[in-house]
Amino acid sequence: MGIPFNQMARIGVYILKNEIRGTKRYPLVLMLEPLFRCNLACAGCGKIDYPAPILNQRLSVDDCLGAADECPAPVVVVAGGEPLLHRELSQIVEGLLARGKFVTICTNALLLEKKLGQYKPHKNFNWSVHLDGDEAMHDKSVCQAGVYEKAVSAIRVTKAAGFRVNINCTLFNDVQPEKVARFLDTMRPLGVDGITISPGYAYERAPDQQHFLNRRSTKTLFREILKRGRNGRNWNFFQSGLFLDFLAGNQTYHCTPWGNPTRTVFGWQKPCYLLGEGYAKTFRELMDTTDWDTYGTGNYEKCADCMVHSGFEATAVKDAVRHPLKLLAITLKGVRTNGPMAPEIPLDRQRSAEYVFSRHVEQKLEEIRTSKSNAEISTDAAE
Ligand code: SF4
Repeated sequence: MGIPFNQMARIGVYILKNEIRGTKRYPLVLMLEPLFRCNLACAGCGKIDYPAPILNQRLSVDDCLGAADECPAPVVVVAGGEPLLHRELSQIVEGLLARGKFVTICTNALLLEKKLGQYKPHKNFNWSVHLDGDEAMHDKSVCQAGVYEKAVSAIRVTKAAGFRVNINCTLFNDVQPEKVARFLDTMRPLGVDGITISPGYAYERAPDQQHFLNRRSTKTLFREILKRGRNGRNWNFFQSGLFLDFLAGNQTYHCTPWGNPTRTVFGWQKPCYLLGEGYAKTFRELMDTTDWDTYGTGNYEKCADCMVHSGFEATAVKDAVRHPLKLLAITLKGVRTNGPMAPEIPLDRQRSAEYVFSRHVEQKLEEIRTSKSNAEISTDAAE
């Protein structure tokens, strides 16, 4: 396993405490997106299609630390956009670590070598470098030649400087299982501590809508990949064995969208990291006012094919804490990659998709315009 023991133990105790208290919904991972701006434009990304005034917005250090104070999740994943474009990111990381959080920065690594000097290694701090496969696969995925080479160089330099480095790998329907397996084989010699792997979510705003996986093909693909690595045991995953078991079609899981609550420049995003259907001003408001039962596979059209770690990892982790022997069996024998699959959740009663993106963008632009003109009025008054 690529997850450090102290992190597993702390998260296990946190879950047990919440289960004993009977807490119905509690977060595991705060997804912090301090900006949407990125220095790449990947074909499968649905996070950066905003007008410039929104891409120019940043969460301040206080906003980010305030979000971590509001949300009791023990883990904070800083994503975006490209977080290294945020000038005060190192202060945000320091503040999060000082609060006892486990912190991961997800980065495409283009700026990592340049900015590495601003950070110090810490046992609770990980870099997570985006790598969607070998050189040809990754450069195709991020729509730019040379990015794989820079990312691999940054991983070497970052490891040599004493940091923990994971990779995050998103898969689409055009990958070949054999190539993915051979790519994963190269991660341990490179010094990578852990691998996070997931199918891409079919973002409605992603430029490429042709290559998202549906549920059946996700399960088949993961069985084909995992069987090429002793049913997954060859590789150091930074994720629960039961999540991999789910990806291979052996678990019928419902998502846990409140497990990874998401704070962006819009506010607290409803219902999850992948969908922005509404926004709350506070974490408490997010938890109390989101109509959770209207989301998830079988409930909502936009959730039909979702099997992404930000929605289902929390389900798998809670399942592991409740049924440790199930996890132990996978740890010892690996993920089952043949035989019948677990029953699928029926989709016949799901509600239709709502398209709310433009409304939220308009509202945000209006808010930016109003705060700018208020700032101008107060500057004029001061003069
Ligand atoms: S299935 Fe769950 S995690 Fe996935 S998009 Fe829907 S609400 Fe979000």
